[in-house]
Amino acid sequence: MSTTPSNGHAIEMPNVVAWSPGMPPPDDPNVVPTGVNAPASGDDSAPFSPLHTRSHQMFPRLTDGEIERMSRFGTAARWRAGEWMFRMGEVGRGMVIILNGLVRVTRRDALGANQIIVEHGAGHFLAEVAQLSGKPCLVDGMAVEDVEGIVVPPERLRALLVAEAELGERIMRALILRRVGLIEKGSGPVLLGQSDDGRLVSLQGFLRRNGYPHTVIDACSDPDAIALLERISASTADFPLVICPDGTVLRAPDENQLATQLGWLPEFDPAHVYDVAIVGAGPAGLATAVYAASEGLSVAVFDCRAPGGQAGASARIENYLGFPTGISGQALAGRAFVQAQKFGAHIAIPTRIKALHCGSSPIQIELENGARVTTQTVVIASGAAYRRPAIEGLERYEGHGTYYWASPVEAKLCKNAEVVLVGGGNSAGQAAVYLASHAKHVHVLIRGSGLAASMSHYLVERIGSLPNVTVRTRTEIVSLKGDDRALTAIHCKTPDGPLTLESRHLFLFTGADPNTDWLRDCSVSVDGKGFVLTGPEAHDGRTQGVMGLETSVPGVFAIGDVRSTSTKRVAAAVGEGAAVVAQIHGLLAQRQALSVAGA
Ligand SMILES: Cc1cc2nc3c(=O)[nH]c(=O)nc-3n(C[C@H](O)[C@H](O)[C@H](O)COP(=O)(O)OP(=O)(O)OC[C@H]3O[C@@H](n4cnc5c(N)ncnc54)[C@H](O)[C@@H]3O)c2cc1C
Repeated sequence: MSTTPSNGHAIEMPNVVAWSPGMPPPDDPNVVPTGVNAPASGDDSAPFSPLHTRSHQMFPRLTDGEIERMSRFGTAARWRAGEWMFRMGEVGRGMVIILNGLVRVTRRDALGANQIIVEHGAGHFLAEVAQLSGKPCLVDGMAVEDVEGIVVPPERLRALLVAEAELGERIMRALILRRVGLIEKGSGPVLLGQSDDGRLVSLQGFLRRNGYPHTVIDACSDPDAIALLERISASTADFPLVICPDGTVLRAPDENQLATQLGWLPEFDPAHVYDVAIVGAGPAGLATAVYAASEGLSVAVFDCRAPGGQAGASARIENYLGFPTGISGQALAGRAFVQAQKFGAHIAIPTRIKALHCGSSPIQIELENGARVTTQTVVIASGAAYRRPAIEGLERYEGHGTYYWASPVEAKLCKNAEVVLVGGGNSAGQAAVYLASHAKHVHVLIRGSGLAASMSHYLVERIGSLPNVTVRTRTEIVSLKGDDRALTAIHCKTPDGPLTLESRHLFLFTGADPNTDWLRDCSVSVDGKGFVLTGPEAHDGRTQGVMGLETSVPGVFAIGDVRSTSTKRVAAAVGEGAAVVAQIHGLLAQRQALSVAGA
């Protein structure tokens, strides 16, 4: 069977791998990514990857001195030859440092295909990113000989990474490279369906944005898939099928069902009171998580989809400080996500917050399943969501030819095709440039007379230099037409009369509204458009004793795109994420002082 792992390469190419934008680039975190930057430009078919030249970093050998220093973080353990040390899909005991013996690490896809990743002996350690937060293992490990080792559980592993800076950096790099390797090789769950099915594309994007290894099989073009479908008695009505590593078959699951089956969601102790609960894991929320957790606060983070928020949809962010060659939003988010886990933030993705109960003290937030999490403070970082313009037929073709972002998954679907893109902002500009490297032609439709008023100069210039991009000014979509399965034509009105563009791919970048529905029943004040008011604006103009990012409710802060009058930029969101932590410290110290004085 020929399978397509998450990066689109056949897994029969053992040494040829390419970095997936779902994860941080496997380079030195302090060095500008160069060779690994190719995917940010949309070239997800790059034949070479730095991974195969970096096995020494992926599988570093520890010195006796290092093992001795690490041993204080773990406990001794033994396994007999032939015994499983950890199993894919099951929560393991943590990182294992091998003192004696030999361990075989294998990856297995959900169809049962096994492949040896590596055999490790004394001085090596066994772990990848999942062990940072105690998530289920992504590989199997068997003792080939009797093994003696040291088990370092997740919370002690995080303590080790922080306490041992240089060693911690090497271990962290190895964990990230190993995850990248698994994504490239395509282990984990198998997604089976029709490659242009919107639900398959959406699940694929979900796993990709969460940096989770998976494999996609096209049920129409792969003859072996038909045999598989017969074996598990599934029909096209069940598409997309997800065959999980433990053998469970999910039929057309939603994101929550899939995440639950894969063991992503942590349990929350109802008795624990967090210092801060962050709603949203976009740039603002992730920055808060990193600063708050690294400064010793107990932190819970919730996001209903994936880390990165809107920035995760950006093919290349070129104006974020420190990345002169640009960085994809997913790569930036992937780095921040791992960083927040390293400092011990409890991250629950996907988890939608349904309501904020700020009448009680401490405050409670209500999860979609009705469970409640208690916290001293809340940071609203729920950002904004794409606006759906009023276009006849839009609902019908959502997921069947209309998209709200342009990731490598969508770009692949548009290869050599005519593409229509609506919007004149920077996000539209980035997407147009990115899609132009895949599509035959990109038609950019804007209502205004030009791009200059709404788009950064560098993007306007770049679009102007691309021969396969046409900007159509004063043009609006009236309706969409298609067949039973997909969009086929886009009808527009222009100053010169009606225009029909024959295209199966429509990208909409038409602005965003604040994600503040979940605040409906609490007393957090919002402006006329629903963005959250903070500082003096939330306190009748009063400045004394008012913190700049605090909302009208004490202990509830708002940052990033969801905040009224904020600058809608990644750097601004990250800056507010850092600033809000200082204000939270101030508030907690004030409360502490009051309670001491009152005691
Ligand atoms: C395509 C695109 C390209 C862009 N390019 C650039 C660029 O090049 N440079 C730049 O500076 N800016 C860019 N931006 C803007 C930038 O991405 C945003 O300013 C930034 O992401 C805002 O961060 P945030 O964390 O405030 O909100 P968001 O990024 O919107 O994140 C909010 C998060 O909250 C989650 N959420 C919402 N409601 C709930 C709920 N009830 N429960 C749980 N979770 C919830 C969402 O799932 C989301 O992940 C771009 C935006 C887009 C769309």
